Amino acid sequence: MRFDQNETSERTSTSRRPKLGKNFKTDLEALPRQPYFVWFDDSAPLESYFCDVERDDMFNSSYRHVFCGPNEISGAWCPNCNKPLLKLLDLDTSDPRLELGSGTPLRLPLLYCWTCNICEIAKSAYFAGVGDMDIDWFVSPSYLDLTMLVRLPANEKTHGLPFMYKLFESGSVELIQYGKGGCTGMFPYGGDYPLSFPGVRASLYKISDEVAEAIYAENRQDESMEYIFRDHNELSETRHQVGGEPLLIQKDIDLTMVCPSCGKLMPRFASIGDDNLDPRGFVGDKWTQVIYHFCKQCQIVGCFNQAD
Ligand SMILES: [Zn+2]
Ligand SMILES: [Zn+2]
Repeated sequence: MRFDQNETSERTSTSRRPKLGKNFKTDLEALPRQPYFVWFDDSAPLESYFCDVERDDMFNSSYRHVFCGPNEISGAWCPNCNKPLLKLLDLDTSDPRLELGSGTPLRLPLLYCWTCNICEIAKSAYFAGVGDMDIDWFVSPSYLDLTMLVRLPANEKTHGLPFMYKLFESGSVELIQYGKGGCTGMFPYGGDYPLSFPGVRASLYKISDEVAEAIYAENRQDESMEYIFRDHNELSETRHQVGGEPLLIQKDIDLTMVCPSCGKLMPRFASIGDDNLDPRGFVGDKWTQVIYHFCKQCQIVGCFNQAD
């Protein structure tokens, strides 16, 4: 299913971005345990809001969520590409809507690398048979050697390796598990891939019950609420979402991920699509997403990408 209202028009970031409006409650009205879209405004560069946080009351200035921007986090370095990992979203964990509790470091960065094999679930792993993966990966010896952490009961072919890292109180991270190699200078932007994408303050706004229900139905291939997608232009591609069940490109509703520290299931936490302040996006395909799981107890993040 696709509703590409803007397929023929030039790709711009603003035309695709959801607008705050009558269909959505603002983040101030929303409650914990609700799903949120991440909203950011390309007229609001990060720096100016650090200087003048209260200037634009469209923002909820209570929490300092930051979308993209340079990554200077200690340990957050791509071992394949020898450059900083991409910081997709950097969440302020004092926001009670995230329900992260007092044990979580002040910032929760969602990190990834789109220019190497740091996670290989969506490519060769997808097509390889069980136990037949030709992927070389690193697993920190301090953690459980659970290399097959992602599985889909509904599709026995789909196994893979999530990229995982641990957060520390100091704000630094340690890479726990990643796929090795695959570094390419040409994909996706012909050698012109930036070290980071422009940073901007971000807000969370509550996803309406109607939209959340439509996403839930779509993930189960239930077409009864497809009209919701037609009515909401912001659903014409995968959106950035925190909490709840995001639109899952591969409909992997049964996918599970196990924490390599405590061995428990890691709940799904967020999904980051392609849109950012660079009109090209993260990979130039609006039907891509990075899905994040998080173990609150161990402060471990696991993620992988999906594409259509
Ligand atoms: Zn990389
Ligand atoms: Zn754990």
